[in-house]
Amino acid sequence: MAMKKSAAKGSTAKVTAAPIADPTLPRSVVNYILQRRRVLTAVHSGRPFEGADVCDADHYLLKAARFHGVHTTQDCPVCRREQLTEVTYIFGDELGHISGAAIDPRRLLDLAERTGEFRVFVVEVCTQCRWNYLTRSYVLGDGVFRRPPRRPPDLLR
Ligand SMILES: [Zn+2]
Repeated sequence: MAMKKSAAKGSTAKVTAAPIADPTLPRSVVNYILQRRRVLTAVHSGRPFEGADVCDADHYLLKAARFHGVHTTQDCPVCRREQLTEVTYIFGDELGHISGAAIDPRRLLDLAERTGEFRVFVVEVCTQCRWNYLTRSYVLGDGVFRRPPRRPPDLLR
């Protein structure tokens, strides 16, 4: 399951009217731990999970893991040959051209302080067997809506 731009389209809730006290504090947190456990139980019992291949990280996700991923100390739950990498994606109308991009999570705090609202999705990926799973998502931002930034000049042509 790779993150696709369309997957999270419209997932950002309407911007709240009041400014947020701490723009960097995750809110509207959604955890997918239980679903993840259910998938892994199926995988380990040899049952195909609803007909889907769960080790299907595509080229873009593997590339994002290589360039923007954060290495964890957690072993891959499927192949156990490699430690998982977490890839952070951001979605939001105010983000303009970077909405849907994988970013270095160290940029999140800065973005949170100059963006009204955007949603963060964290995907774990094994670059060995290509297991990947959306583990959590949450909203950041200061609640003050801004116009999306214009494209950087190097992307205009
Ligand atoms: Zn693996």
